[in-house]
Amino acid sequence: MVTFRQIDELLNYRRTDFPVASFYLNTDLRNLTLEQIRTVTKDLIKLRREEIEKSALSHAQKEALKSDFEKILNFVEALTVEGNQRGLAIFSAQGGQFWQVFKLPQKVKNALIIDPDPYVRPLLAILNQYHRFCFAIVDRKKAQIFEYYLGELQDISELMSADVPSKVRLAGWYGLEEKRVMRHIDYHAHQHFKRVAQLLFNLHAARQFDYFILGGQAEYLPEFEQHLHSYILNRVVKRVDTTPHAWEVNKIKQVVQETEEELNRKKLNELIEQLMTDAAKNNRAVLGLEKVLQAANTGAIRLLLIEEDTVLPGRECFSCGFLTLSEETCPICGAKTEEMDDLFDEIVENTVNFNGDFFQVPSGSKLKEHQGIGAFLRFNI
Ligand SMILES: [Zn+2]
Repeated sequence: MVTFRQIDELLNYRRTDFPVASFYLNTDLRNLTLEQIRTVTKDLIKLRREEIEKSALSHAQKEALKSDFEKILNFVEALTVEGNQRGLAIFSAQGGQFWQVFKLPQKVKNALIIDPDPYVRPLLAILNQYHRFCFAIVDRKKAQIFEYYLGELQDISELMSADVPSKVRLAGWYGLEEKRVMRHIDYHAHQHFKRVAQLLFNLHAARQFDYFILGGQAEYLPEFEQHLHSYILNRVVKRVDTTPHAWEVNKIKQVVQETEEELNRKKLNELIEQLMTDAAKNNRAVLGLEKVLQAANTGAIRLLLIEEDTVLPGRECFSCGFLTLSEETCPICGAKTEEMDDLFDEIVENTVNFNGDFFQVPSGSKLKEHQGIGAFLRFNI
């Protein structure tokens, strides 16, 4: 599970005398084998090792990088890829003393970059598309709390079941009447709700959830909600009828996944509608591969939308990075352009390098009529 703290640590990385190795790897097993993934890793590392040998880095820096590479290689050798993992990002420095691994639900372009700072843009472009969910299930006595992020679900119920008496003996030492017993139980439930609400608030402060899903029965859920801070209430996107421990983990995961898909679909549909309207008015928006390539070449892309599984054939100038649909000679530097099966990685890389964002759109959207690609721009081209 990628934690908020992990992302925070990476973004606030303090430069040292040692460079950082930032490693991105496509691990989409729908199109690749583990063997191919390992070969790509070995090749990339071999290439960089040769480069750093010849570089002006100090002996200590070179040795540290070699240890970084070794640690990355060992990690990939032992790698297992789970269902929804399509990409991997690793940051290693000081011979692996600084070490962070991100398993990602989208493919990334293979790269091994050596720089004083971690190269985080491709990672951020992916993380921007996903939301951190908290799913809290309560009843009068118990609570179960889950965190969901990047397709992974984790049980984070650090809460022991509150001490609510289920059967209160009527002949206790203080000899309560039944009515007062009831009040006693309500008091405990009230304290329990208060405690869970406080726990959720503390968790939210540490983990920065984007959305909350609440599970509970209609007879007491509103009562529980009265204890929730408005920060949390404002982020509640769904309420479901269930009780703690009633559902299998897979069922809980499915509910969050469906909620996430619903939210994304709604947001993406709005974005695509907006894109169509803006592109029709030629108002800082383009549709189709040819125009997106023009925009990518000028660093104009603010937000790129690409349908999943879209293949974008074209040509690239390897000397200056110019992208084109069909020009065989680069109009910028005059070099010969090379034919490419798919420019997906190049377009995304270009967008991200100019601080643009990108979203992957599920297939079957209105983008399909435009080769599955479109972009909002910073300025008209
Ligand atoms: Zn060129």
